[in-house]
Amino acid sequence: MAETFPPLGMTGDDFRRFGHELIDWVADLHERIPDLPVTPDVEPGELRALLPASAPEDPEPFADVIADLDRVVVPGMVQWQSPGFFAWFPSNTSFPSILAELVAAGLGQQGMIWASSPITTELELHVLDWLVELLGLPDTFRSDGAGGGVIQMSASDSTHTALVVARERAGVEPGRCVAYTSAQAHSSIEKGARVAGYGHLRLIDVDERFAMRSDALADAITADREAGLVPTFVCASVGTTGTTAIDPVRAIGEVAREAGAWLHVDAAYSGSAMICPEFRLLQDGLDLADSYTWNPHKWLGVGFDCSVFHVADREPLIAAMQIVPAYLRNAATDSGATDLRDWHVPLGRRIRALKLWFVLRAYGAAELRKLIRGHVALARELTERVVDHPSLALVAPTTLGLVSFRHVDGDEATRAIAEAVNATRRLLVTPSIVTGPSTGGEPVAFVRVSIGHQTVTREHLDDLWSVIASGV
Ligand code: PLP
Repeated sequence: MAETFPPLGMTGDDFRRFGHELIDWVADLHERIPDLPVTPDVEPGELRALLPASAPEDPEPFADVIADLDRVVVPGMVQWQSPGFFAWFPSNTSFPSILAELVAAGLGQQGMIWASSPITTELELHVLDWLVELLGLPDTFRSDGAGGGVIQMSASDSTHTALVVARERAGVEPGRCVAYTSAQAHSSIEKGARVAGYGHLRLIDVDERFAMRSDALADAITADREAGLVPTFVCASVGTTGTTAIDPVRAIGEVAREAGAWLHVDAAYSGSAMICPEFRLLQDGLDLADSYTWNPHKWLGVGFDCSVFHVADREPLIAAMQIVPAYLRNAATDSGATDLRDWHVPLGRRIRALKLWFVLRAYGAAELRKLIRGHVALARELTERVVDHPSLALVAPTTLGLVSFRHVDGDEATRAIAEAVNATRRLLVTPSIVTGPSTGGEPVAFVRVSIGHQTVTREHLDDLWSVIASGV
């Protein structure tokens, strides 16, 4: 008779019982979040000190594990899901997304190749084609056309992948490859260029609105060509991290195309807004783009991580990424099935599109558009209050949900605003620094208020404004 083993860790009945308990716990947490401090009151190392020095040798009652969520985990959280969270950019989750995470874990799929989990691949390709339509991206980005989309962990991964593909397509020694982006672009472009072995990175000057100057890009490319270097990769940002500056994609794309360089568009934050047709003018010129990345995990209610990478032509991507060891050979691959491991660096992948599928179906595009428009409207209201206040000034135009402003008395007074807001612990904003022609080339402190949480209302904005206005 075959030897049988007791179930390890948890029986199926316990799984049901504790699973229901944990769903209740998460639902309760989300009810409590608006009343919890946004920032934790802990010092570095304090949370580790609550944990035993070694892993348990024997099983512990699972009820104790659940109890530790309130004892250890909640006190160490920054409440990114709080309506008082106006820091960085949003990183929203939602109930449909949370349930999809649970189901994805339950399915336990490993979708490295079509044959290892056909549904992982086909759901992802299909839902990402939905996104091409929803965001009004060019049809070339569809997988039933020449290109396609794949889910990555982060925009940094997408940009790194694009840098590698561009380098391979250039076919020259990496030391001669040059990558270009604006001086305001996200640090992931610099990191990606470093990891991909680019010999040179040029941070191109920006204009009064912190957008990349296409004439300065053209000049830099000319100088590099004259020096025997190879313009390989250009990244335009649609919504920089600092101030949501919008690079002119079409003008930059024309320069990149003339130079034979790959054009990548980083719309990590702003991409979600493109489900609203009225914002698409901000990214006019995508017909010139070779790749595009954006993060549904920022503003679309799909919990981290879920970053999307679209390419207009999948051939160079696959050529750069594909290696076929004997143990992955199979008839489906030979007959042309899509193996998503060839679309990025990792081999293994879980069923990543489930979260997007659940969120898009549970909300519907119309409801998601309403959410985004509501946030943009609140950002415009705050912008008007800033403009009308004699002691405050915008440092950059408000294009979407981010309002960037300073105190007219200078950096110290500006930093004091952020300190006063963050000292409430029910509200959180990000103090930052920006440099450009409109700051006279000098670094200037400013306050970033990022409006994008799903539960934020005018009441929360009024609360924030009352703290800002009372101190200036
Ligand atoms: N690009 C932009 C414009 C961003 O704002 C960010 C993050 O805020 C990133 C890239 C990096 O995103 P990720 O954390 O997904 O790598």
